[in-house]
Amino acid sequence: MAFAYRAGALCAEQVSLEEIARQFGTPCYVYSRAAIEGNFERFANALAGRKSLIAYSVKANSNLAVLGLMARLGAGFDIVSGGELARVLAAGGDPRKVVFSGVGKTQAEIEQALRAGILCLNLESEAELERVSATAARLGVRAPVAFRVNPDVDAKTHPYISTGLKDNKFGVAYADAERVYRDAARHKNLELVGIGCHIGSQLTSAAPFIDAAARILALTEKLAQSGIVLSHIDLGGGFGIRYRDETPAPVSQFVDGALGVLAGRSETLIVDPGRSIVGDAGVLLTRVEYLKPGESKNFVVVDAAMNDLIRPALYGAWHELRQVREAESGAVAGVYDVVGPICESADFLARERNLAVRPGSLLAVMSAGAYGMVMSSNYNTRPRPAEVMVSGTRAVLVRERETVNQLFAAERLLP
Ligand SMILES: *Cc1c(COP(=O)(O)O)cnc(C)c1O
Repeated sequence: MAFAYRAGALCAEQVSLEEIARQFGTPCYVYSRAAIEGNFERFANALAGRKSLIAYSVKANSNLAVLGLMARLGAGFDIVSGGELARVLAAGGDPRKVVFSGVGKTQAEIEQALRAGILCLNLESEAELERVSATAARLGVRAPVAFRVNPDVDAKTHPYISTGLKDNKFGVAYADAERVYRDAARHKNLELVGIGCHIGSQLTSAAPFIDAAARILALTEKLAQSGIVLSHIDLGGGFGIRYRDETPAPVSQFVDGALGVLAGRSETLIVDPGRSIVGDAGVLLTRVEYLKPGESKNFVVVDAAMNDLIRPALYGAWHELRQVREAESGAVAGVYDVVGPICESADFLARERNLAVRPGSLLAVMSAGAYGMVMSSNYNTRPRPAEVMVSGTRAVLVRERETVNQLFAAERLLP
């Protein structure tokens, strides 16, 4: 367990979160290197013996230290912007293991990706195909491309991903896929290297993922009949983690299912996990400022807010809250809403939790390693938190806390 109690205090690996708060201040994101590596190994083990690439989804947590760990483990990267590509390269990632997803790649981003020599641009529309082709022609290169296809997995069988796979903004429709591939094959500056899909996030059952694999494979076989032979199949990410009482299927079940579907095929299998690599490997550490008892509700006001972790406000996401000190003198037990200092009613981290705390107590918001720091903002001119990576008995600052001066350094008074 990356986060466990030792001598009454919650620790990240061997380091007490009290010590981290003292050294680096709060609010602060704390990651466990062993947890990140362990999560990656689960994919690596499940894929052992198969030609494959684990392309870590950078958007889940793009801290350079995290990307550097991934690069050293041999991971590739799934990116959605030129900024993320720059991060991957700065962290020592191999551009030949980068896949570029997203519906709105700009001209400049396409150029940047082609110059860097990435593995594949995942095209999401015919308009994008034209733009990539023209850009490649101008640079005098062949652009390696795949289409993100919407496998349109039966929403009746899988109600929890019934967000209308057919009519979301991502990918090209299954029914159009053969035609767009044949069109693309006529562009001499495009090299059709693969096919991809990504059916959604926080999947807890492997069934829709495996169904999608079968649909994508069927398409791959049809394309081969018309002479379009692809070298990789990218099944996306979306592997769920436990926030509360979810029981996500183990990674091995997703991967084994896909390997079963792809048995006997020679294509490289690509997966792009994000949340399942970093989600449970990080916590947001925050300190109690005030207790505010009320008539119908009791509040704990903490020094972290929705600008630091927006998932509760944005998605109504539920994160487990743990007291760093299991028991402390002067603590007041109660049922509390845990809120931040921001001037919005949506500024809460948790609601109706049993806690025994006092001003100065530390709380850990669990499973905050994915879509936490990356979605933070400076709303209310709040500097973003520090990030700390723990490995064994060592805690290393991997991103300094922002300063208020940095926040307006790029702004100008009118002359
Ligand atoms: C966001 C995204 C992922 C990662 O999703 P997780 O739920 O974090 O695993 C993978 N692939 C694509 C194309 C994505 O957009």
